[in-house]
Amino acid sequence: MDKNYLNLVMPFAAQTGLKTDMVSGTVYGSYSGFEVTVAPISGGRTFQISLAVKRAGAAPSLVEMQQIAAAGKKYIAACSVSGYRADFNVRPSALSVKSTVKKNLFPALETVVSNLKAQGYENCCQVCGTEEGVGTYYAYNCAARLCDNCRQSFVERNDIVRHHNEQKSENIIGGIIGALLGSLIGAAAIILISRLGYIAAVSGVIMGVCALKGYEMLGGKLSKAGVIISTVIMVVMVFLSNQFDWAIVLKSEIPELGIFESFRWINYLLFNGGIELSAYLPQLILLYIFTFAGAAPTISSAMRRHTLPDTFYRIDEQNAEAGSEPQSEPAASEQSGQPE
Ligand SMILES: [Zn+2]
Repeated sequence: MDKNYLNLVMPFAAQTGLKTDMVSGTVYGSYSGFEVTVAPISGGRTFQISLAVKRAGAAPSLVEMQQIAAAGKKYIAACSVSGYRADFNVRPSALSVKSTVKKNLFPALETVVSNLKAQGYENCCQVCGTEEGVGTYYAYNCAARLCDNCRQSFVERNDIVRHHNEQKSENIIGGIIGALLGSLIGAAAIILISRLGYIAAVSGVIMGVCALKGYEMLGGKLSKAGVIISTVIMVVMVFLSNQFDWAIVLKSEIPELGIFESFRWINYLLFNGGIELSAYLPQLILLYIFTFAGAAPTISSAMRRHTLPDTFYRIDEQNAEAGSEPQSEPAASEQSGQPE
């Protein structure tokens, strides 16, 4: 998990007596008697607080959970119920993730837990509702509270799904074609917008977005390799678009030149010192800056997606040998609700 993210959530974990799983970034543990997990969602912009609870053997009702969400609507944006699992999405602060953690995450957790407590809920397995042998797991892409039986079937079911996903793998050739087509849209934008006399901001962003989206659309998915390939294509295409833009200027000065002849001249002049770099470079650098600004959100979400471990493991005793007792942690809060 990336360090910035961990730096954001560690103070929250310390404040609440919860622990942080360094691999998945999940904050987990017992809070006020409830086993909770807090995991990043929306590409890390905000968090989901999840619990697996029951009352008198029954799964939580969506209506009641919505009432809890409504009670804390300043801090909770949405909630959902699936079996015995209730998820509460923390309202993202408009300012920053840091501000979401500081201003909304703790009151959201407090609202959820105190209401569940008041309504008589207790911990259980998120699938079958048993209290026996429930552990906190990282299950491929999210945290889960599962008993031993459900863990077994969960792994089997997901192995099938995962196998299916792996078959639907990335098509690199398609991706390259997609990135090229996308970058052509970007190139057209760079040239057109520059001809209209505007600064390159928007066109750079268009280049960054279109090249990556093009890769994703025709390649099936955007892997790290896809990001690298698309980036190379963007770098080259931004340079060529800028050259072409200059060629248009040159052609307007010397009308008898054809546009491709003019393009060759610009390339020749650039590499042979015929162009004043102080006039040339700032525009190109700005274009690159805005291209990467446009590409950054897509790249970071692609990287996040693929750095998340594609595994299944027990979070709450990951340092212990299988079958042995969880390690005692002096800093941990009360372990109530955690079966032997
Ligand atoms: Zn179960």
